[in-house]
Amino acid sequence: MTHSKHPIPQLGFPITETHCHLDFLAPEAVAATLELARAQGVHRFVTIGTAPDNLDRVKEIAGAHNDVWCTLGIHPHDAKSADVDVMTRIRTDSISANRVVAVGEIGLDYHYGYSEKKVQQTVFETQLQIAADLDLPVVIHSREADDDTQAILANFASTRAIKGVIHSFTSGIGLAEYCLSENFMLGFNGIITFNRAENVRDVLKITPLDRMVVETDTPYLTPVPYRGKENAPCYLPFIVQRMASEKALAVDEMLAHLEANANRLFPGLI
Ligand SMILES: [Zn+2]
Repeated sequence: MTHSKHPIPQLGFPITETHCHLDFLAPEAVAATLELARAQGVHRFVTIGTAPDNLDRVKEIAGAHNDVWCTLGIHPHDAKSADVDVMTRIRTDSISANRVVAVGEIGLDYHYGYSEKKVQQTVFETQLQIAADLDLPVVIHSREADDDTQAILANFASTRAIKGVIHSFTSGIGLAEYCLSENFMLGFNGIITFNRAENVRDVLKITPLDRMVVETDTPYLTPVPYRGKENAPCYLPFIVQRMASEKALAVDEMLAHLEANANRLFPGLI
């Protein structure tokens, strides 16, 4: 990967990648991807579980690098494959495995509808209950499901100061306001650099500085100026820079907030 045409900004403060899918990369590419990101000041990575057949892999990646942690959960796309045995695994592995910092990613996706709505809802509720039982934060994916996400979260019994994050936030202002009032953080990624993402920038504008985290969602959603290429955590600085300019803050000041917020969202990182 060469970045000579659009150099990545060098940041003066370490940064945490709160949401990436390192298991979606070719296994031989993981070490080099991490190395490139470390050179840009990324000092911690959270790689996200999504399906029954990648839970072992995300644990393995987290176990192999001392700056990588993981989450375990079944994504709404895969809800149809989340039988009782899979739910039991999420629970027992979240207790027994090292370096598991949250339950996720879980939620509702009515855009693609790869699993039936009713099945998605049940699997989401079951995993919220696991998180509540284990006192873990949650990583939530919600797409075109604002009303049902809000209705289900209304029954989430978490007593954590920060209950979790709605990652890659693209939902409406109404769900944003609800989640902020319910002690969730909102996760922002390369989408905020896209021309047509005015709605996401509007949500960023109303999000308090102590309630936002940054992520790439690698390998998806590559920020401008590398949009169209495969994403990587080394591109985080482009996202942070844009968040800072939208909030009229110095980049280092934004970074200080984002680091503090990552620590509050995932206490297991410290
Ligand atoms: Zn994701």
